Amino acid sequence: MFEGLSEKFQNVFSGMRKKGKLDESDIKVANREIKLALLEADVNFKVVKSFTKSVSERAKGEEVLKSLTPGQQYIKVVNEEMVKMLGGEDQKLEISKDKLNIFMMIGLQGAGKTTTAAKIANLLRKEASLSPLLVAADVYRPAAIEQLKILGKELNIPVYFDDASQNPVEIAKKAKEIATEKGHDLVIIDTAGRLQIDETLMQELSDIDQSIQPTEKLLVVDGMTGQESVNVSKTFDDKLGITGVVLTKLDGDTRGGAALSVAYTTQKPIVFIGTGEKLSDIESFYPDRMASRILGMGDVLSLIDKAQNMVDEEEARRMEEKIRNASFDLNDFLDQLHQLQKMGSISSLLEMMPGVNKKALAGLDMAATEKQMKRTEAIIFSMTPEEREKPDIINGSRRKRIANGSGTSVADVNRLLKGFEQSRKMMKQMGNMGKRKRGRMKLP
Ligand code: GDP
Ligand code: MG
Repeated sequence: MFEGLSEKFQNVFSGMRKKGKLDESDIKVANREIKLALLEADVNFKVVKSFTKSVSERAKGEEVLKSLTPGQQYIKVVNEEMVKMLGGEDQKLEISKDKLNIFMMIGLQGAGKTTTAAKIANLLRKEASLSPLLVAADVYRPAAIEQLKILGKELNIPVYFDDASQNPVEIAKKAKEIATEKGHDLVIIDTAGRLQIDETLMQELSDIDQSIQPTEKLLVVDGMTGQESVNVSKTFDDKLGITGVVLTKLDGDTRGGAALSVAYTTQKPIVFIGTGEKLSDIESFYPDRMASRILGMGDVLSLIDKAQNMVDEEEARRMEEKIRNASFDLNDFLDQLHQLQKMGSISSLLEMMPGVNKKALAGLDMAATEKQMKRTEAIIFSMTPEEREKPDIINGSRRKRIANGSGTSVADVNRLLKGFEQSRKMMKQMGNMGKRKRGRMKLP
């Protein structure tokens, strides 16, 4: 029985030989997977290329956590960099209670500007107690003004419009005056879009920008757009200096690659996401959730999370040192056992790993293995501290005492000690191997 357990330990420690730092070959293999995942999520191919290039540069020399394979370790780095790229900590709008907040909605036709203007007005009235005024500055399509009026009515939020005017700059200016007069502290200007970017539109938006100096210029991007989101966001940002991004239509099954494309291109925060056609369908943006959605590796990421939470890195270093010095004792053995238990049942952990043959897994008697772990624990608990540190002193009479104390047999105790001795030898060999590898890699 114990031999089986020590095999498990062997598996857990086999990562150790690879331990050290991520190297080119690890990264090359893992990078292929990541690139495919990103392209599948419709991240712009140029962004994929340059993002993975900079990530792999950072990853070189990264320590591999004991509990992860190099591939998983690389995914961990990619995920962290993506979260950072998407804005790190949650993004918030700059809102002031003391001055007039002016938001200008910008984006292509159909991106969701008008809907989002109304959603934001509603949200900030509720959550920031602002008093919003919606402004219809899309003068080219009568239906656009009508659409905003309907939304305003539905929300009971006033809408400023001027059917007779063809001048969005004048409309925006007038709206600003009226807002001050009537005591509004949030003005949201809905502007016109085009199916494609054109110079006239850019000039018009730039004129509005100059004349009313919005506090936020929010680029609205359809979350289902793929490759072209880079050009669109780059042009709008270059011309207008956007301050934030709203990504709409994330209620579909899109993986949301546009989020990475736009964030990477503009380096501007994504402030909200649209998650449906209803006016309440707007949410704060969470970089970590989005990164996991884009990578589409939820299982692997949660495995990484789990491993990372459970493995105390300090502890890992201490253990490695011990193995190298061959001072690994039964206390450490017990620690390792607990580490394994903390990580959840072995089978559930294995199930999460990609590439693990589920059929083979079903063949393993996990319950028996875990029961055996409990028994091992009981035996070690019955030893004195000295015995745990120096298992060599455990003679015949001590073995009998330990067996009695743990409710096991002398044969069980013998098996454990024999198995422990074997794994200690094995670890010592691995420690030496690790040393050689380190030497070759010119590491401290
Ligand atoms: P605009 O041309 O940029 O003003 O875009 P609209 O606000 O008129 O939106 C275009 C279409 O997209 C409308 O049918 C909206 O209902 C829809 N829409 C906007 N945001 C979302 C969203 O987050 N999810 C879904 N499913 N539809 C959205
Ligand atoms: Mg519109």
